[in-house]
Amino acid sequence: MIGKILIANRGEIALRILRACRELGIKAVAVHSEADRDLKHVRLADESVCIGPASSKESYLNVPAIISAAEVTDSEAIHPGYGFLSENADFAEKVIQSGFIFIGPRPETIRVMGDKVAAIAAMKSAGIPCIPGSDGPLGDDPEENMAIARRIGFPIIIKAAGGGGGRGMRVVHSEAHLMAAITLTKGEAGAAFGNDMVYMEKFLEDPRHVEFQVIADSHGHCVHLGERDCSMQRRHQKVVEEAPAPGISEEKRQEMGARCVKACLEIGYLGAGTFEFLYQDGEFYFIEMNTRVQVEHPVTEMVTGFDIVKEQLLVASGEKLSFVQSDVRLRGHAVECRINAEDARTFIPSPGLIEQFHMPGGPGVRVETHIYNGYRVPPYYDSMIGKLIAHGEDRQSALARMRTALNEMVIGGINCNIPLLLDIINDPGFEAGGQNIHYLEKKLGLKH
Ligand code: ADP
Repeated sequence: MIGKILIANRGEIALRILRACRELGIKAVAVHSEADRDLKHVRLADESVCIGPASSKESYLNVPAIISAAEVTDSEAIHPGYGFLSENADFAEKVIQSGFIFIGPRPETIRVMGDKVAAIAAMKSAGIPCIPGSDGPLGDDPEENMAIARRIGFPIIIKAAGGGGGRGMRVVHSEAHLMAAITLTKGEAGAAFGNDMVYMEKFLEDPRHVEFQVIADSHGHCVHLGERDCSMQRRHQKVVEEAPAPGISEEKRQEMGARCVKACLEIGYLGAGTFEFLYQDGEFYFIEMNTRVQVEHPVTEMVTGFDIVKEQLLVASGEKLSFVQSDVRLRGHAVECRINAEDARTFIPSPGLIEQFHMPGGPGVRVETHIYNGYRVPPYYDSMIGKLIAHGEDRQSALARMRTALNEMVIGGINCNIPLLLDIINDPGFEAGGQNIHYLEKKLGLKH
């Protein structure tokens, strides 16, 4: 096993990784910015290194500083968490070239999946269902592009091959707007991602977001852990997630899961990953693969009983996965709410001093957070300050536990989105299950 891991992240996920290290007897090194000296995992780590000023660019995205921190602490591996450098193929490559283990897939895999056009091509040839589209980048010939759009049928969406975080996309409803939309998206993509390659696909009007969790070792084993529904979104950001996805039959789950596993084996995937799909009219359409652990991984852990982060550390050490596909059985239902330091109505970020913090508890309740009484939420990073997860024998009891836990949780001194989360959990449409990705924004009056 790896003996010492550097955690190249902050907040709740850094703490989550530290806990997994502890359980496996692995030493953990924390790296932090000047603004993050008081992070919980920094205090609990075996060693810590300050890697730069508050700005992410100079700290959590500062590759030379992170690599030298690994060198001076004699770390053997680097865990990137999610966000920051987690899906940066160049970073993964540098980590490996510097003699460390990168806890994640091979850099080549990250590179292919980071290019949406290449990812779709790889997935399509591996038997993963994709959205009808241009099957490759759009050229400069207007006639040809119009012909592609007509073949797919309007509405269509123009997407940047290098896009991410919900940016670099434009929906087109009619022929008259096609050419201008391509030109605009190309221009924006070039400026934002340094890559002006765009492609076209059918725009699905009211899909759900359903994703499959996989994990693979280096001994030719890969398993899927079922799916999650992450359709409750605002500005393409997930707000509430659950597992399993309402209304997906066991047969469909096994069929899709097996396809994802087969695709992983074909591309030589290593570590944890997620296949994201849009799901509409009973069909799955691949949108992208995330080559890292995800914020919402706990709902899958709660229904399967497996520890995804621990398995990541095992397979990165060259060990076999600790379980096989037939060991994976879903038990009950789990829901996760993302707790953000922001106004529940205006979404304006609310950093500052946590003057009061009371954790909820009880059977089936899990809290993943780095905050504590007296912790000051810095203004420089993502507003997510924690996650609340509730598990129950069925969806209804998981929601009842979530409702109780949200009512019990107290975060004082700053604004947080607990009122919004309660509003979602108490919403009859959400309670019914299976709503599409526009549901939350419509409920909030942000969309018609
Ligand atoms: P990103 O990498 O920026 O997150 P994705 O390809 O995952 O981009 O798409 C983000 C979101 O955009 C999806 O969750 C969905 O809401 C919407 N979207 C993307 N492609 C389509 C499509 N073909 N039809 C409808 N909505 C889409």
